[in-house]
Amino acid sequence: MTSRGSSADRELEAPSADSPALEIQTLVRSFLKEHTAYDVLPVSYRLIVFDTRLLVKKALAGLVQNGIVSAPLWSSELHRFAGMLTVSDFVNLIQYYYTHASVEDALQDIEKFEIGHLRDVEKKLGAPAPQLISMHPMSSLYDACRLLAESRAHRVPLLDNDALGTEMIISVITQYRILKFIAVNYQETRSLRRSLAELKIGTYENIATAPLSTPVIELINIFVDKKISAVPIIDENGVVLNVYETVDVMSIARSGRYNELDIPVGEALEARPKDYPGVHTCTLNDTLYSIFQTIRKQRVYRLIVVDQDKKLIGIVSLSDILGYLVGYQR
Ligand code: ADP
Ligand code: AMP
Repeated sequence: MTSRGSSADRELEAPSADSPALEIQTLVRSFLKEHTAYDVLPVSYRLIVFDTRLLVKKALAGLVQNGIVSAPLWSSELHRFAGMLTVSDFVNLIQYYYTHASVEDALQDIEKFEIGHLRDVEKKLGAPAPQLISMHPMSSLYDACRLLAESRAHRVPLLDNDALGTEMIISVITQYRILKFIAVNYQETRSLRRSLAELKIGTYENIATAPLSTPVIELINIFVDKKISAVPIIDENGVVLNVYETVDVMSIARSGRYNELDIPVGEALEARPKDYPGVHTCTLNDTLYSIFQTIRKQRVYRLIVVDQDKKLIGIVSLSDILGYLVGYQR
């Protein structure tokens, strides 16, 4: 596992002997140690990589055309991997322009700046310079989960070297792909039949929420300040009406309609594409097994935990499940 320039490699917490996590973590860990990142890759796949000299505008069009939301970056100057372009970068960009420039300036600037320049914007915002996190395709899935949990990233690129020693980007491994691989291949399912109430996976306190009237920019500020990727939209009784996600911000970046940042989130949600998969909810009685069944069938990124009246109780993100499986407590 390579973690270039990464912070100290902390040891993960060992589950305590009387914790219900013990059995799950022990079994899942050994499963994850028996498989490599390479095992998770499909037999055939495509990989879209952007040169850091590409205009942000063209990169956005490339993402949209290919129906993806992130891509690894390549520096043809240095002949090496140069980070990732993800939704978070567009969230930071929009927040920066909203606070520092007029819509006209933003539109003019975005027309002409290169991906490499995004990092300058992030520096001005005070966002820490992204570490170049990567790993070898033959690293174990356990190491992949550990790296994802420690770095808080949702994806890690897989890098190798060609015969001449030049770096090659092989693919990108995501939280979702790993959890789906577990959902499909992990056999000891008996150990997963414990409820969320028992396992306490997820966040149940200080949940960031917003009513339908909240301007979109305020939600973007919450994403940046709290480093989260979704905010449940609730009514005055705490009933979950919807969820606004960082990925929704891509449609604003794509259309260039920065004036939409002041509209109420309720209005922005109405403009979502027809094929939007919807909000996934569960209750505290749902088991880890049933959550894996959902992950197996659908591309979910989080489940909103509700009571029988659909009132918000908590959030279970893929980060929470992955962190739990490898015993990583934040
Ligand atoms: P998302 O934005 O979809 O939640 P991540 O959590 O993976 O995706 O990325 C968050 C931030 O970290 C982004 O600014 C992205 O550019 C950066 N980033 C992600 N992966 C890497 C990586 N392997 N190397 C460098 N920077 C990365
Ligand atoms: P994510 O950005 O989905 O990977 O989530 C990162 C962490 O933040 C996880 O522990 C989530 O449970 C938590 N989280 C996600 N959304 C919210 C929210 N709206 N309020 C508070 N915590 C959240």
